[in-house]
Amino acid sequence: MKGQSKALKRVRRGNLCSGCGGCALIAPGKIAMTYETPGYLRPTQKSALTAAENERIARICPGLRQEVLVSDKQHDDVLWGPFISMHTGHAVNPRLRHSASSGGVLSAILTHLLETDQVDGVIQNFAAQDLPIGNVTRLSRTAASVLQAAGSRYAPSAPLEELHRHINSKQRFAFVGKPCDVAALRALAKEDERINARIPVMLSFFCAGVPSLSGGEAVLEKMGTSLDKISAFRFRGNGWPGKATATLIDGSTLEMSYHDSWGKVLSRHVQHRCKICADGTGAAADLVCADAWECDEQGYPLFEEQEGTSLIVARTPLGATLLAKAKDAKKISLESFDSSRLTRMQPGQFGRRRVLFARLSGLRILGKPVPKYIGLHIMSAARLGTVRGNLKNFLGMVRRVWQKQV
Ligand SMILES: Cc1cc2nc3c(=O)[nH]c(=O)nc-3n(C[C@H](O)[C@H](O)[C@H](O)COP(=O)(O)OP(=O)(O)OC[C@H]3O[C@@H](n4cnc5c(N)ncnc54)[C@H](O)[C@@H]3O)c2cc1C
Ligand code: SF4
Ligand code: SF4
Repeated sequence: MKGQSKALKRVRRGNLCSGCGGCALIAPGKIAMTYETPGYLRPTQKSALTAAENERIARICPGLRQEVLVSDKQHDDVLWGPFISMHTGHAVNPRLRHSASSGGVLSAILTHLLETDQVDGVIQNFAAQDLPIGNVTRLSRTAASVLQAAGSRYAPSAPLEELHRHINSKQRFAFVGKPCDVAALRALAKEDERINARIPVMLSFFCAGVPSLSGGEAVLEKMGTSLDKISAFRFRGNGWPGKATATLIDGSTLEMSYHDSWGKVLSRHVQHRCKICADGTGAAADLVCADAWECDEQGYPLFEEQEGTSLIVARTPLGATLLAKAKDAKKISLESFDSSRLTRMQPGQFGRRRVLFARLSGLRILGKPVPKYIGLHIMSAARLGTVRGNLKNFLGMVRRVWQKQV
């Protein structure tokens, strides 16, 4: 096709798409996000792009580049990125805390923003009605809607795809997405002033990676059911960590522990881009949440089930203010947190950052495109790893390319 995007071609050659939908936002009507085997959201170009659209995609696509800028108000950690404060905490509303993924802090802050008219709506992801193991991006205008969206869904989402509807309105929104979604949005905000005007708040969560829909289907199969037999599905939530729960059409439920669903199934279906992700902790967001659990070396909680607690990283002055205001309004409870504990709490994130340089080198040496990371301390993080670990990951990535798994 004439006018085929060179940027998207490079992304495809390196299998670098994270599925954010940013390119579809830049060229609405020309690019759409669709599911591709084995169930990842990927851009499909339908008509020719202008040179300007192509260049803009090359500047904001997180599969091609990601840049972290640090202000003098932020402490810049090699592993955890720029931040102002770290806390643990939870939503004061017990229903929200129970329903949410960890402590419900993201949802509590979003609810507070809506109830105090700081925003007119929240752009966030829900379980899709016609595909219970998938996501759909919608607008929440009420606390009840935010509650409905709470919980992590380990499935593709492309929250930027339809954002043009909101940035052309006169309203103000908060946005919640994966770290790569927020990175793309922040990059776009540098060249489109409507973004900051319409979306003044950007929140995210720590992210180990997005599994394909096949991952969700494999969980159902292990439970002894399938997509055509269920009416609803939760990956987790309703407790901490919360069990994967399938509701069958007859109303009965089947459950699987987080350890089994994420550890034994979903983590094996994670897309390539996530294996070379330098920013699983949302460096571009105003505020990020994660699981604040004591865990084993693989990152699984050392308890069966308990009331949820979130780790909260306020990255920007706005994020710190949102947190303080939600606390003052008694929407969340907070405790201080020593950031040196984070490597033990998030061994998966720590491990991936240490071996990233080795993985990228394995790809580069065989001529595969990799994302350009700026300000993400790739070399400094590699120095925290062992020679053996780095060599193993370098060779592992070379083998994956040879075996055409990339
Ligand atoms: C794919 C994925 C990987 C994750 N990896 C890690 C990890 O490595 N370490 C860790 O500590 N935590 C991880 N989490 C985050 C963690 O599970 C919690 O989301 C986080 O602790 C926030 O909890 P909360 O109770 O404050 O959020 P909640 O109040 O439950 O709010 C969750 C928010 O996330 C949004 N959301 C849910 N699923 C998606 C999705 N697929 N795409 C975009 N938005 C979504 C919801 O719309 C909601 O606004 C991951 C989450 C996801 C979705
Ligand atoms: S990462 Fe986002 S912007 Fe880049 S190709 Fe994929 S969907 Fe488009
Ligand atoms: S691991 Fe990184 S690239 Fe993958 S979905 Fe999460 S933030 Fe995006």
